[in-house]
Amino acid sequence: MRPGLDGPDLDKLGFDTENLNMPDGSPLPSNTTPLFGQVTFVGTGLINGSLARDIRRLGLAERLVGTARRQSTLDEACMLGLVDEATTDTAEAVRDADLVVLGVPVGASGDAARAMAPGLRPDAIVTDVGSVKARVIELVAPYLDMRCFVPGHPVAGTEESGPGAAIDRLFEGRWCILTPQDGTDPTATDRVAALWDAVGSRVERMGPLHHDKVLAITSHLPHLLAYNIVNTADDFEGVLKGEVLKYAAGGFTDFTRIAASDPTMWRDVFLHNKAAVLEVVGCYIEDLMALQRAIRWDEADALFERFESAQAVRREVVRAGQAYKRIPNGKYQRADGQRLLSRTFG
Ligand code: NAP
Repeated sequence: MRPGLDGPDLDKLGFDTENLNMPDGSPLPSNTTPLFGQVTFVGTGLINGSLARDIRRLGLAERLVGTARRQSTLDEACMLGLVDEATTDTAEAVRDADLVVLGVPVGASGDAARAMAPGLRPDAIVTDVGSVKARVIELVAPYLDMRCFVPGHPVAGTEESGPGAAIDRLFEGRWCILTPQDGTDPTATDRVAALWDAVGSRVERMGPLHHDKVLAITSHLPHLLAYNIVNTADDFEGVLKGEVLKYAAGGFTDFTRIAASDPTMWRDVFLHNKAAVLEVVGCYIEDLMALQRAIRWDEADALFERFESAQAVRREVVRAGQAYKRIPNGKYQRADGQRLLSRTFG
């Protein structure tokens, strides 16, 4: 194993070590009882790295170990103090783990499970953070004891990726959806739920297919639209001689942010949530055509009603505490004005 920092370099992590404070000025956590001994992260990118930061900050585990494909990713994770040790050998990385968190693109879940299987302790709990649930369960099932596998999806993230993009408190106030199966050990589910609860998430349990349908509408479709709108605009770029980017307005700029999301991750999401995504894309096209028709035939009332009902949805989302607005310095603030978080969106 490649050793990381002997202990986290608190200065480097932004802690005020002289006054023993957290980066935001609050006191360091004390007397926290760790929920786990060793936690191993299979994949040490944005999501697992952010979880590692919170686990470290809150003292929720005794030891953090990371694994990834590339040594350079692990070097960065160690340098940032996300993990104590790291190795590209997945079986070795999980050997003493009480909890393994799978955080790789969903299409790589099966290969990652196969690689970790020889090293797993029989009582180790395995969970994942993948954006698709039914297919991940299918992919890992041949290699894992499914009684100990708790499928999960923290509905939080940013358009960035890799260990350097990991941030504190990414999951605070956001949903984390767990999709345990009939055979899942309830104690394993409760322990994974306790971890997400400890990092500030609101934990919800539902079936994997239901999860995939809901997320197809709330997350996957918006990303597909963003990728497509940006590409359509880019196609016009030549015709309009560079004026699309020059005059990029608020709406388009927001789409470019979403479309900056990792192509591998999103390719896998669409390939592995095919049925649900195709269903919502079908509905979307019907609605779009209705709008197209309303514009063509000057149906002012129809347009007004559709926009008005969308406006009401926005108010609901804000009321539910799930909306964020951009503030100066590239950060986001909850649109209900309640609290400041960095760069998060669903
Ligand atoms: P990320 O920052 O790109 O990190 C991915 C990690 O997985 C890296 O450590 C990478 O290692 C490793 N990896 C990539 N391909 C792999 C493969 N074929 N086999 C083994 N390891 C591989 O990704 P992320 O944003 O954290 O996403 C991780 C998971 O969280 C995904 O399943 C995604 O659907 C889910 N998720 C993402 C978000 C979001 O907003 N980003 C939100 C919720 C859930 P190398 O660097 O060495 O390649």
